[in-house]
Amino acid sequence: SIPLGYFGGIGLASKNGVLFKGANFLDVMTKVNTVVMDKTGTLTKGVFEVQTVKTNQLDERTFLQYVAAVESKSTHPISTAITRYAEHIINSPKPKVEIPKPDYSFSATDVTEIPGLGLKATVNGKSVLVGNTRLLERQGIQFDTGLVDIAETVVTVAIDGVYEGHLVIADALKPDAKAAVQALQKAGIEVVMLSGDKASVVKSVADQLGIKQYAPDLLPEHKVEHLTNLKAAGKTIAFVGDGINDAPVIALADAGIAMGGLGSDAAIETADIVIQNDQPSKIPGLIRIGRITRNIVW
Ligand code: ADP
Ligand code: MG
Repeated sequence: SIPLGYFGGIGLASKNGVLFKGANFLDVMTKVNTVVMDKTGTLTKGVFEVQTVKTNQLDERTFLQYVAAVESKSTHPISTAITRYAEHIINSPKPKVEIPKPDYSFSATDVTEIPGLGLKATVNGKSVLVGNTRLLERQGIQFDTGLVDIAETVVTVAIDGVYEGHLVIADALKPDAKAAVQALQKAGIEVVMLSGDKASVVKSVADQLGIKQYAPDLLPEHKVEHLTNLKAAGKTIAFVGDGINDAPVIALADAGIAMGGLGSDAAIETADIVIQNDQPSKIPGLIRIGRITRNIVW
């Protein structure tokens, strides 16, 4: 049976916008010694802004039509940002010097989402890849290797097996991300960040937040491996994520936590605990409520 005090703790948590899917998870939170977090949408806002567009052969409008045709088929936060930006440019008034209107329409077919890498599709009979440099590498497509070092997320585009351009996109830290990390570290909890994004971006975020343990370039199955290793090392783990790819790690953690606002349905359904307003600073609070409640119970 569950001591009544836990319901008090859960009531307190729910007043703060945190949902528990079972009464025992407050108890699990008191035992957590390692908090593993996803980067995008968990520590950062997950709302990307397009900074630069660079094309090779195509004019920018045509390039963005190819990109938007593909990205509009996905719900990934990167896709949402790029589609919004492309639609704005495509629908903005045409330049004074009229560019001949292409006599084809841009719509993507055979769209395949490749988790942690990007998308592949057919547009106007051409094979289009939109994703990170590792996606292009896998297909043996050449690109400027300088793109890998940029400390911002880069979305590269290849058409019929040839690099055609890229977009530099930027995300921002959540305002309470640093406070959340510091509060956890102060409570003696190890903080680990896992990400599918590239090393230069992940290192920059980790440095800004004071996170010493982090791993970039992870495919969803690599995140599972990391968590399995931490568990094997005897850690009691809370994992916090938001993406569709995070569902397996949320399921594997001792306490699986999802961001409820931006979070994917899969992440929210799998989670034991849901943070409704997406604030990472709720996590140290949960551990504290758990510890206080435990003292009351005892
Ligand atoms: P994270 O671990 O940061 O949540 P994901 O596993 O969702 O990231 O994606 C990892 C990387 O794969 C992204 O940083 C991006 O470079 C690329 N990527 C994934 N999905 C897409 C997409 N729909 N469009 C473009 N790039 C994508
Ligand atoms: Mg994510």
